[in-house]
Amino acid sequence: MSVIDLARLSAYVDIPKRARLLLEKPEKEMSLRLSVRTGADEMLITDCFVVYYNTARGAAKGGIRMSAQASLEGTRRLAELMVWKTALTHIPFGGGKSGICLDPDELDSFEKSVVMQEYVHILKEDLLAGSYIPAPDMGTGPREMAIIFGELHIPQAVTGKPTSVGGLPGRREATGRGVATCAACAAPDMLGKPIGECTVAVQGFGNVGSHSAWFLAQQGARIVAASHITGGLYNARGIDVEQALARSPQETFDGLQGDAISNEDLLGLPVDVLIPAAAGGVITEEVAGRLRCKLIVEGANDPVTGQADEVLAEAGIVDVPDILANAGGVIASYVEWRNAKSGSFTSKKEVYDFIDQILSRAFERVIECASALGVPLRRAAQVLALQEVVTSMQERGWL
Ligand code: NAD
Repeated sequence: MSVIDLARLSAYVDIPKRARLLLEKPEKEMSLRLSVRTGADEMLITDCFVVYYNTARGAAKGGIRMSAQASLEGTRRLAELMVWKTALTHIPFGGGKSGICLDPDELDSFEKSVVMQEYVHILKEDLLAGSYIPAPDMGTGPREMAIIFGELHIPQAVTGKPTSVGGLPGRREATGRGVATCAACAAPDMLGKPIGECTVAVQGFGNVGSHSAWFLAQQGARIVAASHITGGLYNARGIDVEQALARSPQETFDGLQGDAISNEDLLGLPVDVLIPAAAGGVITEEVAGRLRCKLIVEGANDPVTGQADEVLAEAGIVDVPDILANAGGVIASYVEWRNAKSGSFTSKKEVYDFIDQILSRAFERVIECASALGVPLRRAAQVLALQEVVTSMQERGWL
C-alpha cells in the first residue's frame, strides 16, 4: 500500500489521471539475491530489494537498510517516503531505497564488507550511471559507504561516506540535527515554551536518535529517556547525553545514572516531546491510545501507522512527520553529492546552517498549509510534496 492516499489528497491537489497511475506504484523494483563466499566452505546467500519509486525530480536517492526484517513491501514504502521528503525540501532527487535481509549484528566486519562488495557488483550499472545514489540507513553506516566508494571510485556515486574518503563533515549528525531543528521550530507554538524548557524521550539511540538527543541537550532540553532495541534508560533529572553518545556504537547505557525502562514504557512517558528514532510502525493504534507526550517528532521513517495517525489527531498530539523531521540526512547528502561533483568543500557549520535554513522554511510552509486547509501536519506536508512532484512530471512532459 502507498504511503500517501492519493484519493484523499485529490481533495487538495489536482492530480492528473496519468500522474495517479505513475505514482500508484514504483517505477522500478528489483528482487536480488546476494551470494558471497565467506570461507573455504562457507557461503552467505540472502535477498536484497532495490526500489526506485519515482525519479521525476532527479536520481533515485535513498539509504541501504540492513535488517533481518527487510522486505520488498517495506523497501517500497521507504523508497516512496524519499520521493516526498526530497520534494518537500526542494532537494533535486527522486526516491529510492535498498533493503538487505541480514541481521547486521550477526555479521563480522569481513562478512559485511563482502556483502557490500557483492551489492555493488550486482547494481554496478545503475551506480555508475548515477541513476541510484545510496546512503546509510539502519544497519549500515559510513564504513559500508566507503566500501561502495572503494568499488566504484566515483565520489558522487554514494553519500554518507567517512570524511577521509570525500564524506561531508556533519553528515553523520545531519539527520539528528534536522530532528532537533524541527523540534525547536515546533515547541514555541505547539507547546507554548522554547525547546530548552522541554523534556524529551528518544526511542532508538542509534545514529538519528543519539544525535537528535545531543543537539536538543545542547539547547537545554532534558533528555529523560533513551533506548536501544534491548531496552532503555530513564532518569527524570536528565540522562548524561555525552556519555550515552559515547556508548551508543555498543548499543549500551552501562555505567550511566538512571533506571532501566522498556521500549514500550518509554513510549508512554509523560514528556513534552517523543522522538521515535528506531524502526517503523512502532506507534500503532493501541500504542497511540496510551501516549502521554504532547508532541512527536519523527526521527524514524514511517513510525506511526495510519490508524494511529487518527488517534493522535483526536487526542490533540501534534506529530511532525518523517518527510519533514528526518530530512536533514538527505539535505546533507545533497551537499556531499554536489561537493563531489564540483570539487568544493563545506564546513560542518555550513552544513548545519544549510539544514536549519531548509527545514525551518519547509516547517513554516507546512504549518501555513496545515492551517489553511485545516489538516494535520502530515497531510499538509504530503499535499506540498505531491504538488511538487506533479509539477515536475508535468514539466518533464510525463503527463
Ligand atoms: P541505527 O541502526 O543507527 O540505530 C537504530 C537504533 O534503534 C538502535 O539504537 C537500535 O538498537 C534501535 N532499534 C532498532 N529496532 C528497534 C525496535 N524495534 N525497537 C526499539 N529500538 C530499536 O539506525 P538509524 O540510522 O539511526 O535509523 C533509525 C531510523 O531513522 C530508521 O527508521 C531510519 O530509516 C531513519 N532514518 C535514518 C536516517 C539516517 O541518516 N541514518 C535518515 C532518515 C531516517
